[in-house]
Amino acid sequence: MKFRKAGIAAASVLTLALTVSACGDGGKKDKGDSGSTGGSDKGTIKIGIKYDQPGIGQKTPDGFAGFDVDVATFVAKELGYAEDKIEFVETPSADRETAISRGDVKFIAASYSINDEREQKVDFAGPYLLAHQDLLVAADSDIAEGTDLNGKNLCSVSGSTSAQNVKKTIAPKANLKELSTYSECIAGLASGSVDALTTDDSILAGYASQEQYKGKFKLAGLKLSNENYGIGLKEGDTKLKDQINKALEKMVADGAWEEAVKKNFGPAGYKNEPAPKIGDIVK
Ligand code: GLU
Repeated sequence: MKFRKAGIAAASVLTLALTVSACGDGGKKDKGDSGSTGGSDKGTIKIGIKYDQPGIGQKTPDGFAGFDVDVATFVAKELGYAEDKIEFVETPSADRETAISRGDVKFIAASYSINDEREQKVDFAGPYLLAHQDLLVAADSDIAEGTDLNGKNLCSVSGSTSAQNVKKTIAPKANLKELSTYSECIAGLASGSVDALTTDDSILAGYASQEQYKGKFKLAGLKLSNENYGIGLKEGDTKLKDQINKALEKMVADGAWEEAVKKNFGPAGYKNEPAPKIGDIVK
């Protein structure tokens, strides 16, 4: 499957302006994007994250924040890279497999669901979080459990399982707008041109709790799918996969996973599922 990348840079600039969030623990620094080797030869490591998803992966004025950022930072440390050796790279949904195969990044932690189609191209460590597809709607919307979404104006992101699920099962006859980032969809939801933004509840909760949207949106509270977040890495790199799995296990065992959950999902009131076991994919 091929996805378009057009408009991503512009979207990132736009979403920076849209997203306002405090950066946790002093902020992780933006090291910029240089070279295309995955970085490890220079003593640095390049890691793909999202830049516009509050609570998950967000570029802030001070650096980077979010659950994926904390997971990535923990894993990198276990691999021998201190925080100042990490170069975060933006990997929008439609770019993730390509970024890994090309060697732009060593691994990706970017609300990246493990599925069969992606496993044809990349490998996954994890899972490290179980989320569910849901809808973000206007606070006064009557869209709820049981509402037929066919014919509704939905918005999601190209290259996401969320968009795929709408087309395949949830509402094949919906009027689905596929944009480059979820924060672009938020603008449509705010203006009323979109009835619902659909993606993982973990992401939607972050948007709903943003200061400028407080009281304007609500989650419908549907569990439309199981999204098992994995760390994407180059196909066949079993050594790296094993190392990352060990790091994830350690993160859960020593309480750092729970701490990261509280820090990043607490402010949004997101009720997450318990830590998944490595290799335990909920279908
Ligand atoms: N977890 C879903 C996916 O991997 C939706 C979120 C995203 O696009 O990052 O496609």
